[in-house]
Amino acid sequence: MATSAKPIVSITHAVNNLPTSFALDDIEIISQHANETLLTVREQMLLPHPKKHAPVFTTPQLAALCRTDRKKINYYWERPELALPQGTTMPRSREFTLAEAREWIKKVGPFSPRPAGARGKKIAVGNFKGGVTKTTCAMTLAQGLSLFGRRVLLVDLDPQASLSALNGVIADSEVSEEQTILPLIYGEETDLKYAVQKTYWDGIDLIPASAALFSAEFYLPFKQSQNSDFRFWDVLNAGLEPLLDEYDAIIIDTPPALSYVTINAFMAADGLIVPIPPNALDYASSTQFWSLFTDLGKSMKNVVPDLNKRFDFIHVLLTKVDASQIATNKVREWISRSYDSLVLPIEIPATTVTTTASMEFGTVYDISKYEGSNKTYQRAREAYDRFAEMIDQQLMALWTAETQVEVAA
Ligand code: ADP
Ligand code: MG
Repeated sequence: MATSAKPIVSITHAVNNLPTSFALDDIEIISQHANETLLTVREQMLLPHPKKHAPVFTTPQLAALCRTDRKKINYYWERPELALPQGTTMPRSREFTLAEAREWIKKVGPFSPRPAGARGKKIAVGNFKGGVTKTTCAMTLAQGLSLFGRRVLLVDLDPQASLSALNGVIADSEVSEEQTILPLIYGEETDLKYAVQKTYWDGIDLIPASAALFSAEFYLPFKQSQNSDFRFWDVLNAGLEPLLDEYDAIIIDTPPALSYVTINAFMAADGLIVPIPPNALDYASSTQFWSLFTDLGKSMKNVVPDLNKRFDFIHVLLTKVDASQIATNKVREWISRSYDSLVLPIEIPATTVTTTASMEFGTVYDISKYEGSNKTYQRAREAYDRFAEMIDQQLMALWTAETQVEVAA
């Protein structure tokens, strides 16, 4: 550290033998130290439970999930021939686990299953800026869809591994390289089945990330330079192919950069969701996203002239919308002028519901009983539900079109 300038915050305690000036090798000490600390505070982070647990549902909540009323639920409950999960009887109520609730949703809810022969759709969440809620959108969309009875695979492609963390999986200490997409990238595996993990949330599986994913950024161009036939942009797509029958949706969370891994995500995706908070900086950088994306498309076409890539949908999602900010309306207008029909007719409000320490690794869906204002919670929850519903309707439309073409053929 420079000795002349007075530090703004004086660090008097050189805790736990961390050095006070740093050689490049010392960075590893910081990393190890932070990782060890993370393991010890993890229990507190995930409080009130040491490991993440999915919420449980009361009868009225179950009725809402099944889009019916409590009386109907009780009626179904009393009919053993329906073989519905009975839940657990508590002193004054009944409780259903997520797995039980999902069975009810599938049996008595109004959601049509994916038609036979239709395959799961891959949805990438992308934006080259960090902090625009890509990861939160990926997770909440998966949770929302699972509550319509869908089966979802989450793929974490960000070396920062926040999506893995939201699933209670802490990168590096709990994720080895072999559990990420890396063996597929290296050509040691031909599909991604090896990497699929169950999560705490019934209906959601995960392919986790770790910092080691950075090495893909070196390996993919290297392999391409060695072998011009190598389709560096198609590795993820090929690896997901055998999983498409098993899942209704495969949601891919991407790093905030135009990396080789992000290119793989976009090239694999049937649909793309671009979250943008309506503030001037995020709006401005979103325009760069499209221009970089355009350049990417052009250079891909140069490499592969007959590349036939189509997106079934591209959506811009306004997120972290704070209506009390004066600038919000203005920027919202710029966004809708810029992106027109791409902008989804639903906004995710800015919410502090999940910003308490114990919920940082959670979303609105992880909350069973919210202690703050119920209105705040309801508003956020309804927005996420509607977002998931819109995507679900879109999936259904795509599946229907797909199966009708097959029938006609
Ligand atoms: P990204 O993946 O684009 O970097 P994240 O999903 O990690 O973004 O979100 C960035 C931050 O914004 C996180 O701290 C997250 O908890 C917070 N956040 C996400 N959604 C909302 C919301 N609707 N309101 C307020 N904060 C949010
Ligand atoms: Mg992220």
